[in-house]
Amino acid sequence: MTSTDAIRYIRAKLDQLLAVMGTLPLRPEELDDATLLELDPIGIVAESFAQMVAHLNETNHRLNLATDEIRAIFDTLGAAVVVFDHDNRIEDCNRRSLDWFFGGSERAQIIGRLSNEVCDCTEALAHVREVADGTCHVVNLHGQDVQVVASKIFDEAGRHAKTVMLFADITQQMEVERHLQLYAQVFSHVGEGILITDTDNRVIEVNAAVTRITGYGRDELIGSTPSILKSDLHEPAFYEALWDTLRATGHWHGEILDRSRDGRILPLLQTISEVRDAQGVLTHYISVMTDISSIKETQTRLNFLAHHDVLTELPNRLLLSDRLHHDIERAKRDDQTVALLFIDLDHFKNINDSLGHQIGDLLLIEAARRLKSLVRQVDTVARLGGDEFVVLMEGNTSPAAATSLADKVVAAFKQPFVVNGLDLYVGCSIGVTLYPEDGIDAVTLLKNADTAMYRAKDAGRDGHVRYSVELSEVMRSKIELDHALRTAVRDGGFELHYQPIVDITRGKVVACEALIRWPNGPADARTPGSFIPVAEETRLIVPLGEWILREALTRMHEWLADGLELDYISVNISAVQLAQPDFTDRIIDLLHESGVPGRQLQIELTENMLMRDIELCSRVLTQLREYGIRVAIDDFGTGYSSLSYLKQLPIDNLKIDRSFVLDIPGDANDCAIAAAIIGLAKTLGLDAIAEGIETCEQQDYLARIGCDKVQGFLHSQALPAADFAAFVSAGRQTRG
Ligand code: C2E
Ligand code: MG
Ligand code: MG
Repeated sequence: MTSTDAIRYIRAKLDQLLAVMGTLPLRPEELDDATLLELDPIGIVAESFAQMVAHLNETNHRLNLATDEIRAIFDTLGAAVVVFDHDNRIEDCNRRSLDWFFGGSERAQIIGRLSNEVCDCTEALAHVREVADGTCHVVNLHGQDVQVVASKIFDEAGRHAKTVMLFADITQQMEVERHLQLYAQVFSHVGEGILITDTDNRVIEVNAAVTRITGYGRDELIGSTPSILKSDLHEPAFYEALWDTLRATGHWHGEILDRSRDGRILPLLQTISEVRDAQGVLTHYISVMTDISSIKETQTRLNFLAHHDVLTELPNRLLLSDRLHHDIERAKRDDQTVALLFIDLDHFKNINDSLGHQIGDLLLIEAARRLKSLVRQVDTVARLGGDEFVVLMEGNTSPAAATSLADKVVAAFKQPFVVNGLDLYVGCSIGVTLYPEDGIDAVTLLKNADTAMYRAKDAGRDGHVRYSVELSEVMRSKIELDHALRTAVRDGGFELHYQPIVDITRGKVVACEALIRWPNGPADARTPGSFIPVAEETRLIVPLGEWILREALTRMHEWLADGLELDYISVNISAVQLAQPDFTDRIIDLLHESGVPGRQLQIELTENMLMRDIELCSRVLTQLREYGIRVAIDDFGTGYSSLSYLKQLPIDNLKIDRSFVLDIPGDANDCAIAAAIIGLAKTLGLDAIAEGIETCEQQDYLARIGCDKVQGFLHSQALPAADFAAFVSAGRQTRG
């Protein structure tokens, strides 16, 4: 019972008393005590008071219960609540706020205090309390994200009485939000397409990459199934297997050929995964797709490159042998003929060397084009490497058809190739083989065509040669010669002989040239002129050349020790040796090994070697010059030297080739050439040595025109070491 109820009750009882009195025939002052007692007005009032007090107690009890209930709720709130009075003193606060802000203090210790006395209240918080407009603010309190709401409470008169502040720790929520934001960023920016479907396989979300890869808009995809991307290039069994794997393992990974909105085939690498909730119930499928079109293109390109020549894009050796095998198989079955043309450009190396590889490459591209224009669509033109091409004539061919094509190619290659505005003349040599006559397998056919091509070169180039068994005889004897040479290198089957070089003015031997001899070599290959080129071709000249140098230097050292007066020993060097990267180092090692001073060794290089790779020669000769080694140009006059190079290179001697000496003094031309070479040598400050002097007339004439050193049978052939030493020490008067 409220106080109002109680007062209303008392009034009612008083009214009841007055009403009783009003019904009496007497006025109140006329009532006697006995009547009054009978009426018991006190009892009536007391009873009403007692009832009123009972009501009040009841109400009070209920109020207390309600207050406790509210406090309990207040204290169990997850949020912290602090109530400030008008002076910003703490009027009340809940348990959470005591623990959170006031170090777990008791409420009594906090009530009545200013907030900054009991905790360090930040400026941001003070501001929120000041404004107290009931809106949410997020402030950072000691590393925690806190949501704060402050509201003002007014009294009946409308004055600001208190402020209630509510604090909620939203750090975790913010963290989750930040993560979600990050995931959203990743989702939209990732290069892979991500497509999410529900359990009915309806698309519920795609990222930007999916729209970019497929060309479909997001709106078109959402609500549809991924089958919208199907290319119809896979059998239904493919998709069945995909679903089987997905259901069994929760994942599928592989390549799918889909189709873009504009109809293009899309090779995609896809990973499809099931998504399940905490209870393990399937909720979504996520498909991550990578567009592998460019990888596929690269693969196709790589595959192309594995079977084609990069420069000309013609089939390479691999593809050619593949097709050749195939054609031979078919010809075998159908009793037909296959023809092969092995084509090698003539003088291509000259162009490469003189005009550079770039022009050389352009020429090869042009040559490939020209070849393709001459053959039928079905024929194969392949490049084996360098300047070697092969034409494989498809289908049934005849020797006449092969010869006719070879004629056409030779004629076409006689025409100049226009490269970078230059007219380049190359020509070609062709070897022809036919299945089955010239070989019954691809390897033999190719090898024999190569042999025939070499024969075409030997026969003066610019032509074609059909393979014959005799040709392989030539090749076989080459192989036998190579074998014999190797055996001789291994077993020490060579000797060095020494031909005196005579100073005709002084009338004495001043040096010698070491010349190799093969006493037990095959009769037809005993001279260096016939076996040295084979040794060069097979690179056997490298170990052989080293033996020659060591042997020559050993002899020279002996002779010098024996007191023979020799200026130098001259050793012929082949182009293959010179091109060895360690050539200079080897020579220097051998010099040290022998003890012969560098100045007493001369190397002979031919004019052609010099001009073929002027850069290499220049580098090597300059290095050798540092050790004093002399350099002579052999067979001078037979090649085409550039005079400006001659001037620059460290050269000591020019050796006039025997061919110009032979007809001296009878042939006016040879005389003029010899005179010109001697004049040139003098101008450049070099010595001229005439080779192959056989007669006194030759020597006399040469002496007259200023040549002072000669070498030839007139004085001596090349002699074994002991004979040479005897020849020199005998001090035999040379013929003059
Ligand atoms: P080459 O360096 O020009 O050597 C001179 C050649 O002319 C030698 O022939 C020599 O015997 C020959 N000869 C010298 N005087 C006369 C003469 O009065 N009349 C005639 N008819 N011939 C004369 P050989 O020894 O047969 O050598 C031929 C070529 O083989 C040499 O020409 C040289 O290029 C090469 N050769 C010889 N020995 C070696 C060697 O040890 N290493 C290398 N790389 N090549 C060598
Ligand atoms: Mg020589
Ligand atoms: Mg010579």
